[in-house]
Amino acid sequence: MMLNKFKSEKLYHQALSVMPGGVNSPVRAFNGVGGTPLFIERADGAYIYDVDGKAYIDYVGSWGPMILGHNDPDVANAVIHAVHNGLSYGAPTEIETKVANLVTQLMPSIEMLRMVNSGTEATMSAIRVARGFTGRDKIIKFEGCYHGHADYLLVKAGSGALTFGHPTSPGVPNDFVKHTLVCDYNNLASVKQQFEQYPNDIAAIIIEPVAGNMNCVPAKKEFLHGLRALCDKYGALLIIDEVMTGFRVALGGAQDYYDVVPDLTCLGKIIGGGMPVGAFGGRADIMQQLAPTGPIYQAGTLSGNPVAMAAGYTTLNKLMDVGVYQELTDKTATLANGLKIAAKTHNVPLVVNYAGAMFGLFFTTADEVTSYQDVMQCNIELFKKFYHHMLAEGVYLAPSAFEAGFMSIKHTDREINHTIDAANRFFSNLNF
Ligand code: PMP
Repeated sequence: MMLNKFKSEKLYHQALSVMPGGVNSPVRAFNGVGGTPLFIERADGAYIYDVDGKAYIDYVGSWGPMILGHNDPDVANAVIHAVHNGLSYGAPTEIETKVANLVTQLMPSIEMLRMVNSGTEATMSAIRVARGFTGRDKIIKFEGCYHGHADYLLVKAGSGALTFGHPTSPGVPNDFVKHTLVCDYNNLASVKQQFEQYPNDIAAIIIEPVAGNMNCVPAKKEFLHGLRALCDKYGALLIIDEVMTGFRVALGGAQDYYDVVPDLTCLGKIIGGGMPVGAFGGRADIMQQLAPTGPIYQAGTLSGNPVAMAAGYTTLNKLMDVGVYQELTDKTATLANGLKIAAKTHNVPLVVNYAGAMFGLFFTTADEVTSYQDVMQCNIELFKKFYHHMLAEGVYLAPSAFEAGFMSIKHTDREINHTIDAANRFFSNLNF
């Protein structure tokens, strides 16, 4: 099946001469799967439409934010209304407090929060507060987890850093990362060992509670609870990076899903409903250390932007409707089980992980995928073939074997069945 990508390819070649890789964020390029990226003209509900007029069932959802589906009329109206009142004031507005109240209500571990403009800013600021509050420098992160592109977090990172083969980025001086300790995901012993070696130096652990940047690898519950206990024992803070999982795996985020209480939480993606928003928050005694109440500095010209807040507020309110998360989880389970059965029927080794409304597919003979090492065992070449088959069948997955998939409330049985049927056709042509 050949895709007509005539206009996309033309735009891509124009973009290549003025933007590195033709893109404003590396994960949008198709380097991980080969070929050229689609250029998108518009999106609606569960679908995105490329400039060549083809519709795709969208499981990327702008990398997470579009949980209500694209072009939600209530979100669009709220944004348009806000736009008519001016785009930005750089002074306080009521809607910022309304969003903050909503977040504290949905995630009770967050007593106070501050808005920023991206997930990167959220994690960067949370780490600064943790270091300032504890007076310690070292942090623990996990191999394969991505927390944005701040220097000291780009160590053995996931997402595009992993896809393109540079998990530790050049341009980050060794001096900036010497305080970053890297442990193994879902391996408590590796964390214990670091605390034993540096009992008084570790400010915080930062973790993706469901890793979504090395494909989709849910943490084990006892692992997260073990991290909490280690933090308590050694006086370190637990930072849960819910930029991806917040309002996605459950309304109360992964901290609710796993029943674990962090000291600080990072948010992004869904909190902005598709606009550039991030947030970090947690215990009031820690957050009060921020300027202007405390000495730890953090700021932002456009933080809490009224248009972005309108999108986020409306999105979060809609997600509070009863049954939304059960529906999302059911849809994800239907897709996961359908794919598993299709693969099994044709003897294709496939593991499907999912949590709430995020999922990941792994072509592997292993029984389960719970670690970075397991992820690295997967058959990337097979994924690439699968990817292009699905694209030709009108299914848009993240163009990398190391990214998660996202379900929206607009995906119905029709889209899910088409996805399973398309995968089935691919599997039936493989010789296993
Ligand atoms: N943390 C996590 C868990 C993420 O998935 C991402 C982005 N995918 C970030 C942080 C960084 O967010 P942003 O791209 O908005 O800077």
